[in-house]
Amino acid sequence: MKVAVVGLGIAGLSICARLALAGHEVFGFERYGPMHTNGSSHGDTRIMRMTPGEGELYVRLAQRAGEMWRSWEGLAGKPLIEWTGGLMAGPRGSPFVDSCQRLSKKPAAAMRGDAIHTLTRGYIAMPYEWDVFRQEDAGVIAADATRSFLLKQAAQWGARLFHDVAVEEPIEGLALKLKGEACAFDAVIVAAGSWAGKLLPEFAGRLAVKRRVVAWFRTEQPRLLPVICADNEAGVYGMPAPRGLYKLGLHALGGAADPDAVREPDEDDAAMLSEHARLLLPKHDPAPVRMARCLYTVTPDENFIIRSSSAHERVLLFSACSGHGFKYAPMFGVLAQEWLDQKPSPELEAFSGRSGGVNRFGAQKA
Ligand SMILES: Cc1cc2nc3c(=O)[nH]c(=O)nc-3n(C[C@H](O)[C@H](O)[C@H](O)COP(=O)(O)OP(=O)(O)OC[C@H]3O[C@@H](n4cnc5c(N)ncnc54)[C@H](O)[C@@H]3O)c2cc1C
Repeated sequence: MKVAVVGLGIAGLSICARLALAGHEVFGFERYGPMHTNGSSHGDTRIMRMTPGEGELYVRLAQRAGEMWRSWEGLAGKPLIEWTGGLMAGPRGSPFVDSCQRLSKKPAAAMRGDAIHTLTRGYIAMPYEWDVFRQEDAGVIAADATRSFLLKQAAQWGARLFHDVAVEEPIEGLALKLKGEACAFDAVIVAAGSWAGKLLPEFAGRLAVKRRVVAWFRTEQPRLLPVICADNEAGVYGMPAPRGLYKLGLHALGGAADPDAVREPDEDDAAMLSEHARLLLPKHDPAPVRMARCLYTVTPDENFIIRSSSAHERVLLFSACSGHGFKYAPMFGVLAQEWLDQKPSPELEAFSGRSGGVNRFGAQKA
């Protein structure tokens, strides 16, 4: 089948690689250059959680993705995930911590927040009133290294990837407008992240685009601190990053954005992130070494939306969104293949929203 994939973030790249391997004629289009820093997929690291507190559907997805991450690592010839363990935390009674504990195969008792100081030799601190669940099967994904691997692997498997080519908006069927010319395909998969609502306006009302900023903090600590996901008002999360830095982000804070005009990080962002660094990272310098902006595409219930367009059933919106998609990357190609093959798939059924959506815990973390 001749398939167009619109957008080469982590979702589009995974889809191109998998479909090309399966023998499809794959054309991937990306409006920016390779390894660009717009959209949602750029940056050194992302958090991996094999037992995401978001619900059983996501746990199954993560477990299947875990096996495939190992095969990607084999092909890449290097590790793409570093297993650091994680601290799933939140104010006492946090439904997120409870959900992580419940879904975990080896549930341990939640700790009081102040135990974390001792556990991390003083490098991470949490308030006494917090519950903390120590999740061993969590770690850090080398995000840019994964994108770079997929760019090569997808091309090696025969996908034709075109950069600096913007598919014209809106998409109305199987003929895409490329540089003013119409090109026809048998199927079109729109993995355009925060731009998806512009390309497929019927979904725009369900895809809110939000600006997020992350910051890196310096410490003398050797790299292996655990990742943090906290269910507090800011939804603060953190992870070790290369060059001895620790990165913090705020899952729940940041305003609406136009994906074509995202404000660069400023002093207000620095002040807000420093405040969290002061509380959580006592042995770190609270002044950020650097900051970066990124986009979330947030659906009303924070679930992914993978659903055919009502204009044409062979046009698919593939939105692996709401700030928690990276960890499932290898499964995106699998789901796209199931859709093309019209295979029954509980994940596609759930993410289409046709069965009333998935039973997902709301205030999730990265
Ligand atoms: C700050 C931040 C922290 C995160 N932390 C985590 C984490 O710790 N763990 C985790 O699992 N997930 C995390 N996520 C979520 C994860 O990164 C995203 O779910 C994932 O990157 C989404 O990828 P995507 O390919 O759908 O979107 P994108 O990466 O945005 O890709 C969409 C692509 O489409 C292209 N495009 C748009 N319009 C067009 C067009 N007209 N023609 C051609 N190309 C077009 C864009 O240029 C872009 O490259 C985080 C996200 C952010 C922003």
